Amino acid sequence: MSSFSSQPLQGMSDLRAPEIFQWQRLERIGTRILEDYGCSEIRTPVLERTALFVRGIGDGTDVVQKEMYRFEDRGGRDVALRPEGTAGVMRAVAAAGQDLQDARLYYLGPMFRCERPQAGRKRQFHQLGAEALGAPNPAADAECIALQCHILTAWGIHDARVQLNTRGLPEDREAVAAGLRTSLEPALDRLCEDCRRRLESNVLRVLDCKQPDCRAVVGDLPPVTDFMSEEARTYLAEVQDLLALLDIEVESNPRLVRGLDYYVHTVWEITHGALGAQDALCGGGRYRFELGKRALEGVGFALGFERVLMVLEAAGTAPAEPTAPHVYIVTQDPCAFRENLVLAQTLRRKGIACGIDVRKGRPFKKQLRAADRSGAAWAVLRGQREMDEGTFLLKHMADGRQEALAMPELLDRLAGGHALA
Ligand code: AMP
Repeated sequence: MSSFSSQPLQGMSDLRAPEIFQWQRLERIGTRILEDYGCSEIRTPVLERTALFVRGIGDGTDVVQKEMYRFEDRGGRDVALRPEGTAGVMRAVAAAGQDLQDARLYYLGPMFRCERPQAGRKRQFHQLGAEALGAPNPAADAECIALQCHILTAWGIHDARVQLNTRGLPEDREAVAAGLRTSLEPALDRLCEDCRRRLESNVLRVLDCKQPDCRAVVGDLPPVTDFMSEEARTYLAEVQDLLALLDIEVESNPRLVRGLDYYVHTVWEITHGALGAQDALCGGGRYRFELGKRALEGVGFALGFERVLMVLEAAGTAPAEPTAPHVYIVTQDPCAFRENLVLAQTLRRKGIACGIDVRKGRPFKKQLRAADRSGAAWAVLRGQREMDEGTFLLKHMADGRQEALAMPELLDRLAGGHALA
């Protein structure tokens, strides 16, 4: 049996204070904006039938072929940890029948991909994503991109680049593949081995290849839109027009394909210079998600939290702070210990955030230091004298002034939050 390790698995992390405060801040801001755009939260299981991802995301994609945590459960069922959020949300939408037909949903949570870990690439990572269900509509796509940009700006990220392209209609796929094959044919010997194979199996993926020689070849190709129908090109032009109307700056990137099979029409990626090799901060697109005989249509995006945090760190954004308790209770003599526990409970029940050291007999000076470090605005000091008099010594931490108060005045002062007279 292997020896015990307290470390998480490779590519996975424990998230805790102090960095968790930044996570929570981003979540609060992000979810509020999503709700302002009419989205409601959906929480789906992290474990799903493997078939959902194979059929929905596509059998030929890297995510499904190489990166899924896939296993047989105790009942012999083929299951997988979700590698992305859209598939589970679409299954839930199908399960809900009419209820979620035109829903706007958002999700937040961990995703799992067994890739080689590196900076900005984890095996458990976290996404904030949104899906707006409904038939193709350029305004819905433009709004979705605007929403994403809104969130990034509210988080303090201003210099991200939005790259936009189209995957065209499903009916365009054959013509696009044929057009790309013909254009790539003369440069065949400059392509890597993988890309030569991709030429037959999944030619679009050649556009994604990171090998310098392949990138040079791809750089000379005509844009994919050249091989698409008029309908697909008009759709893209309308999205671009609406984004200009909404004052969202985008660059067109005719090589952008995105790895998953379910995309139709608009696809985009938002990149950031601070990220290095894994420079995609978020991605999105319009999709047609096949679920058995049913197909669900919508547009959505997913933002990677780890990468957002990398960008904020590189920009020198101040770390988020925990909220300090309003008051800290200091037990001057052990005889006040039990009464002070009751006081802490009373204050918390009234909604007043309160700190207290629950170790009986803790030295007074150490408690005072803890009160100071907690960032509390007030301290309540209580020892033998206060117990005898039935009072509470309220100390204003900023200037050190103290005042003995009875319970009603103490509550009044703490609830009102005004300074000592
Ligand atoms: P994708 O579904 O691959 O388009 O991913 C959407 C976003 O999730 C990316 O833009 C990243 O921000 C994030 N992401 C994807 N894969 C990983 C990973 N392995 N580690 C960290 N973040 C990731």
